[in-house]
Amino acid sequence: AKKSGGSQYHIYKPEMFTRVAQRVELEGEVRQALLKQQFSLSLQPQLSAKDKKLIGFEALLRWHHPERGMIPPDEFIPILENSEYMIELGYWVMRRCFELVSEFLEQGLIDVRVAINLSAMQFLDPHLSDYLRQLMRRFNLSAKHFELELTEQTLVSDIDTAIGVMTSLKKIGFSFAIDDFGTGYSSLAYLKKMPVDVIKIDKSFIFGMLENHSDYQIIMSTIAMVKNLGLTVVAEGVESGAQLRSLTMNDCDIIQGYYFSKPVPEVELKSFLAERLVD
Ligand code: C2E
Ligand code: CA
Ligand code: CA
Ligand code: CA
Repeated sequence: AKKSGGSQYHIYKPEMFTRVAQRVELEGEVRQALLKQQFSLSLQPQLSAKDKKLIGFEALLRWHHPERGMIPPDEFIPILENSEYMIELGYWVMRRCFELVSEFLEQGLIDVRVAINLSAMQFLDPHLSDYLRQLMRRFNLSAKHFELELTEQTLVSDIDTAIGVMTSLKKIGFSFAIDDFGTGYSSLAYLKKMPVDVIKIDKSFIFGMLENHSDYQIIMSTIAMVKNLGLTVVAEGVESGAQLRSLTMNDCDIIQGYYFSKPVPEVELKSFLAERLVD
């Protein structure tokens, strides 16, 4: 604590003040950025390991800041967590994903699926389910085209609420993925309780999987366990053909990573698909 003016002590530290100030400033900027359309999505393809067919995409947020350039999501989403602006921004992401799926369907990708990241704040927002239903009506789209990605942290924060929200959204057709699997602190017991469809093995295990024996064993055991539970397993961060072959041989369902494609900016999607659909 800092001494100031006589014997008074402040309970906050200067760095705390900076963080709060930074967040307040960021919130204002996000509001402006939404109005000025500085956000966009990049879509990273997910392919079936067996036949290398395009299954769908993960939607990843991008912020094109007029002065600071492209700001990666890791640099603003964690700061916005607990802010109502995260909910606002999340609504924007969801709406844009519905628009994109509509366009995909028009282009003939009839089974396409888009994965949407939800932070804890968004997932526990009491209006989430209404908002999604409203989008389904407005765009006349089935929820089967959307997968909602949650992290282990989000799920353990309030298990009973999480199960309730998931169950009601699954009833209307949404599916759920657990993102960054293996990096949280949750126990395996919740896999049994949570109505999840997909497990995404975190890229930190994939990167060194062919050099690091324990990473390799963790991945292969996870794939076997997930499959035995009747769920789908995705490997993210796949960067090499050797990783792809090893994962495919060991029964991994879906592959996402730079080896196939980096996230594709919205504006490049048309040409990406045109190329893809030819071969
Ligand atoms: P994430 O959900 O784990 O997303 C995967 C991240 O891994 C993405 O980073 C993606 O570009 C990157 N990646 C995919 N394949 C590879 C690969 O082969 N090699 C490497 N080195 N990286 C790969 P990105 O786009 O920077 O996103 C970072 C995080 O920001 C995401 O991690 C997610 O937690 C968050 N995020 C992004 N978009 C949204 C959003 O719309 N809403 C929320 N709540 N969070 C988002
Ligand atoms: Ca994700
Ligand atoms: Ca992930
Ligand atoms: Ca992550």
